[in-house]
Amino acid sequence: MRVIFLDLDKTLLGEDYSPEPGRKVVRALVETGFEVVLNSSKTRAEQEYYRKAWNLSSPFIVENGSAVYIPEGYFPSDIVGNSGIKREGYHVIEFGRSYSEIHSALDELAGKYGLKYYGNSSLEEVMVFTGLPEGLARLAIKREYSETVFLWERRGFEVELEARGFRVLQGSRFINVIGETDKGKAAGELLGLYSLMGPVESFAAGDGPNDFPLFEVVDHAYLMGDLRHPKAKNISSVEEILEVIK
Ligand code: MG
Repeated sequence: MRVIFLDLDKTLLGEDYSPEPGRKVVRALVETGFEVVLNSSKTRAEQEYYRKAWNLSSPFIVENGSAVYIPEGYFPSDIVGNSGIKREGYHVIEFGRSYSEIHSALDELAGKYGLKYYGNSSLEEVMVFTGLPEGLARLAIKREYSETVFLWERRGFEVELEARGFRVLQGSRFINVIGETDKGKAAGELLGLYSLMGPVESFAAGDGPNDFPLFEVVDHAYLMGDLRHPKAKNISSVEEILEVIK
């Protein structure tokens, strides 16, 4: 079995967040027999939108490794067993902290550091900060395990958040706050379930430092853009994956 983990922002998605540019590569991978697992900082609601657009029925990993969502019936019941919780048609294995915990911590620091994040922003502000169209902004607001700090008047809040047991990730534009997890931790757990079904060859593609822990747990890694990672092969477009995995 071949499993590929794919990042969304700046890997399968371009600046306009449309599912169209990624459709060809996702469908080609599925038709080649890959299990395509989205592994993104995006929320469950956002990823459900892209999974529907691409006709995917495989598990997916939300909010930077905070939880694995496995559609019920995807794995035989003896494999998923009692791990995780059942919620709305999914078997959910959680690694992160709850959104309410993260939100509360940020609310305590917001005044001191001049913070703006999903939880204290209007829909219109979210659209301005992220560039998301309204429909997708409404899905991004449905957060379960992470916050994104869009604006800050001064730094120092990162240390205070880390002292409370949160992980603070610097992205290209924003700062992401999650529990003690990452994309690699969640992907490793999911690969463990796949391996109970038989031999697994694993792949991953991403563009940012938050994808690096993911690269550590797979057999083959592909890195979009200009960053370097000792294990990853650099590619300039996600379509190149189709060439290198033949
Ligand atoms: Mg990305």
